[in-house]
Amino acid sequence: MNFFCALCGNKETWPTQRWCCPCGQPFFVEDVPAFRLEAVRTQESGLWRYRDVLPPIGPHAEPVSLGEGGTPLLLEAWDGLDIGFKLEFLNPTGSFKDRGSSLLVSFLRAWGVRDIVDDSSGNAGASLAAYSARAGLRVRIFAPAHTSAAKQAQIRVYGAELVLVEGPRPRATEAVLEAVKEGAYYASHAYHPMFLEGVVTIGYELFEQLGGRMPDHLIFPVGHGSLIASTYLAVKRLQAAGLLQALPRFSAVQSQACAPLFTAWQNGWEDVQEVEPGHTVAEGISIARPAWGRHALKAVRETGGAVLTVRDEEILAARKMLAKRGLYVEPTAAVPLAALVRWRKRFHPHDLIVLPLTGHGLKSSER
Ligand SMILES: [Zn+2]
Repeated sequence: MNFFCALCGNKETWPTQRWCCPCGQPFFVEDVPAFRLEAVRTQESGLWRYRDVLPPIGPHAEPVSLGEGGTPLLLEAWDGLDIGFKLEFLNPTGSFKDRGSSLLVSFLRAWGVRDIVDDSSGNAGASLAAYSARAGLRVRIFAPAHTSAAKQAQIRVYGAELVLVEGPRPRATEAVLEAVKEGAYYASHAYHPMFLEGVVTIGYELFEQLGGRMPDHLIFPVGHGSLIASTYLAVKRLQAAGLLQALPRFSAVQSQACAPLFTAWQNGWEDVQEVEPGHTVAEGISIARPAWGRHALKAVRETGGAVLTVRDEEILAARKMLAKRGLYVEPTAAVPLAALVRWRKRFHPHDLIVLPLTGHGLKSSER
C-alpha cells in the first residue's frame, strides 16, 4: 500500500513511521477501491458494510469494531428549511471519531503495531483509547491540561495512559513527537490517511439514507478538517461512480476565537496559516493549524459553499435549541446550527441541509 501527497506528489510505502509528507501536508491512501453500490454488504449494518470499498486493512485481518457508523439521520422541518441531523454523537464513544479509529486501529493491529500515541483535546483520544482497549494495543494520549474532566475520565477508564501537557494545544503535539522518537507509533487522528478513510463512510451512509442522493448543503464544524475533507472524498467517489450529478455545497464553520480557515478563505489563500487560538466553548475545533486546511478550502470553493464563523454565545444558544428538540450535544457539535441560524437567508425554501452532530453532550462540562 502507498500513501501519497496531493500537493507535491510524494509517495511513501507502508509500513512507514512517516506520519505526514515532508512538505507538511497529510497523505492520502493510493488506490482505494472505487465505490460501487453492488459492493456494499447490505446484510451488515454500520461502517463495515462498506468494507469492500475501504482500503484493505491487511491480509486475513478482522475489523476492530464496537458497532460504529449506521447513525440515525433525523429529518425535520425548521424555519421553512428541511434539516437533517446526522446523529454522530451516538457512535460507541460519543463522537464521529469512532469511524476513523475503527479503521485505523484495525489496520495497525493487522500490521503488528502494538504501542501507539496520539495528541488530542478529547474526543479522538477517548475514541482511540476505546478501540485500542478492544484491540489489545497500548495507547498513550497526550492532551492539553485544560481538556474537559469528562473526556479525561473517559480516556483513563478505557485503560489508556493520559499524559496532560501544560500550555497551549501545540505543546501536546510536541510531546507526542518526543514519544515517537522513542519508538511509539504516531496514530494521528488528525493526519493518518487510514483515519480519514474511516470517516469517509459518513458520506456513503448519507447517500444511502437519503435514498441515493446527497443533500443540497452540508455544514461542518471545522478543527483539523478531517470530517469535511473525508465527506468531500466520499461525494467525489460517488460522482466518479456515476451516482451523483451535482455535488452538495460544503460549508465550513469555525469559532470566531480560532478561525484559520476563515482567514485563509477571506484572503483567497490556498492553504491555512497558523493562528493563535483564543478561548472558545467549541474546544473540539480549537486548532491553530488545521491538517486538512488546504483540502477543506478546496471542498468549499469547488462546491460553491462558504466558510463562516460564529461566536460562543451563538454556539451555546444553538446547543440549547438542539436540547429543546431532545438532542444533547457538546458545544462544538452545535456550531453548524449556530451558523445556519445566523445565515438563514443564504438558504432557499426547502433546501435540504444536513448537519452532522459530532459529539455527545455528556462529554462537556459546559452546562
Ligand atoms: Zn507533499
